Amino acid sequence: MIVNMSDKATEREIAHIIERIREAGYTAHVTRGVERCIVAAVGNGRRHEIEALQVAPGVDNVVAIAQPFKLVSRQVKPERTVVKVGGVAGVVAIGGPGVVVIAGPCSVESREQLISTAHAVKRAGATMLRGGAYKPRTSPYDFQGLGLEALKILREAREQSGLPVVTEVMSTEDVDIICEHVDMLQVGARNMQNFALLRRLATVNKPVLLKRGPSATVKEWLLAAEYLLSGGNSQVVLCERGIKTFETEMRNTFDLAAVALARDLSHLPVIADPSHGTGKQSLIAAVSRAAVAVGADGLIIEVHPCPERALSDGAQSLDFAGFEKVMKAIAEPLRRAAVPAGAEAEVA
Ligand code: PEP
Ligand code: MN
Repeated sequence: MIVNMSDKATEREIAHIIERIREAGYTAHVTRGVERCIVAAVGNGRRHEIEALQVAPGVDNVVAIAQPFKLVSRQVKPERTVVKVGGVAGVVAIGGPGVVVIAGPCSVESREQLISTAHAVKRAGATMLRGGAYKPRTSPYDFQGLGLEALKILREAREQSGLPVVTEVMSTEDVDIICEHVDMLQVGARNMQNFALLRRLATVNKPVLLKRGPSATVKEWLLAAEYLLSGGNSQVVLCERGIKTFETEMRNTFDLAAVALARDLSHLPVIADPSHGTGKQSLIAAVSRAAVAVGADGLIIEVHPCPERALSDGAQSLDFAGFEKVMKAIAEPLRRAAVPAGAEAEVA
């Protein structure tokens, strides 16, 4: 339930509503917007006691939260969230006016590979660096990542380039060591519903990049984000990375509309991963442009100094020149709508 306070509500009236929500067995979450304050009653309590607050002083109205996710929903927080990711050379804001481009290799393979990539993607305009240290591989015989050694390399690349770093966390055991080395923790698609991991990440003081599971509905994805917010971590960025469909030409089917839908339903920033979303180098520019056109707050793109030698995801990784081309492509304006025949002169 949501208690919408009137724009003239006093601090005492707001405090009273918070107290009544707690007495009714709920947790109170307060969102202070530019004009008014919203107090959400979240959890399992006595609903009729909240409904009765319609007549309490300072209350405009009391409404049910339409969706099963509560703190993630725009009903509870209409203003968009901006997630700040800290780096040694400054902070990158995801969810602000600019499209944030995160780039780097699928896996950290060596110091030279990551550092050269960090400098190249920075030169081309990326503002964050990615790189996997612990890799979720479909086969146990594939490269599993360099672990702690990769974390140290990521930290060095971050110091040298000034780019904040994101890396995937697969297990609750690795959370502390990863937090010591990087600026943002990625929950991979295969772990979107690893509830023990989500509960643990809800308690850390670092932002989380939450990928959509390959078979998850948008609702399940937002409920996974709800675990993070309800546990105390509101610094969450959602990432659409393609889903499983009957299509076989592409590694996954990039769900473009889900980017727009997630931004409609939630105040959290949403970024797009065209690399995993397509599995093909040749489609990265087009899907990146499309994602930006539907409102994506950012992109995460795999880049490798020599994709043919990559230990993971080479087929979808761009080399440095390819990445530069994608950066140029996303800056180009979209085509204009056609005009009726004979009307070109008027438009020009
Ligand atoms: C990755 O980012 O390299 C990765 C494994 O992504 P996903 O979890 O989306 O498959
Ligand atoms: Mn990858």
